[in-house]
Amino acid sequence: MNEIVLRLNSVEKFYNKSLASEIHVVRGADLSLTAGEMVALVAPSGAGKSTLLHMAGLLDAPDAGTVEIGGQQLSGKSDRQRTKARRQDIGFVYQFHHLLPEFSALENIALPQMANGVGKAEALAQGRELLEIVGVAHRADHRPAELSGGEQQRVAFCRALANKPRILLADEPTGNLDPKTSDQVFDALMTLVRETGLAALVATHNMELAARMDRVVRLENGLLVDG
Ligand code: ADP
Repeated sequence: MNEIVLRLNSVEKFYNKSLASEIHVVRGADLSLTAGEMVALVAPSGAGKSTLLHMAGLLDAPDAGTVEIGGQQLSGKSDRQRTKARRQDIGFVYQFHHLLPEFSALENIALPQMANGVGKAEALAQGRELLEIVGVAHRADHRPAELSGGEQQRVAFCRALANKPRILLADEPTGNLDPKTSDQVFDALMTLVRETGLAALVATHNMELAARMDRVVRLENGLLVDG
């Protein structure tokens, strides 16, 4: 049995608590994610997928329940501890790439590593390796505006993995792409996950992509259910 790298225990989240507009978005969600598995998080828009990913990624604290990363309970810890864990263990990708426009594809991947203390030559070498895996190495020296949407998103995946996180959290990572590009970009994501042994939680409402992952969990009425 692989190591559990992310565990959500009875996680709850309210918005506008104690107001007439209060909503209880997440109502006791449980999830265990093991190293090397890719799990689809499926639900209609507005069901709470982003909310759940933010709590899993320690960007937002649950109102009840706990979030454990690598067996360590972190949801109640200080900002400093959560930031450290997030930087070391978690990579994020979003629907929009958020690459820095004034830097090349390769520099966008190297910069987070250099910010973490890795030397420039090593950061660039590791960035090139990641670009090779996703098939964008030939565009390494181009700025984001010179890349296609699919290429931009593949570079964003590499950037999310640059610091070798254990967990990848992806929020509709192909939601902004046409179906053919979406398939290619998803293939690249799957290859990256397989090659790095990451645990990945990928929110999507594309059922075909969801079916290609190891497991599907649905967010239904604020609870996570299998299948
Ligand atoms: P999804 O990612 O599945 O589309 P979200 O997690 O973004 O869903 O949102 C779930 C629900 O919570 C929605 O009804 C949304 O309007 C509401 N919501 C999200 N963020 C906030 C917030 N900061 N304040 C109030 N309501 C919010």
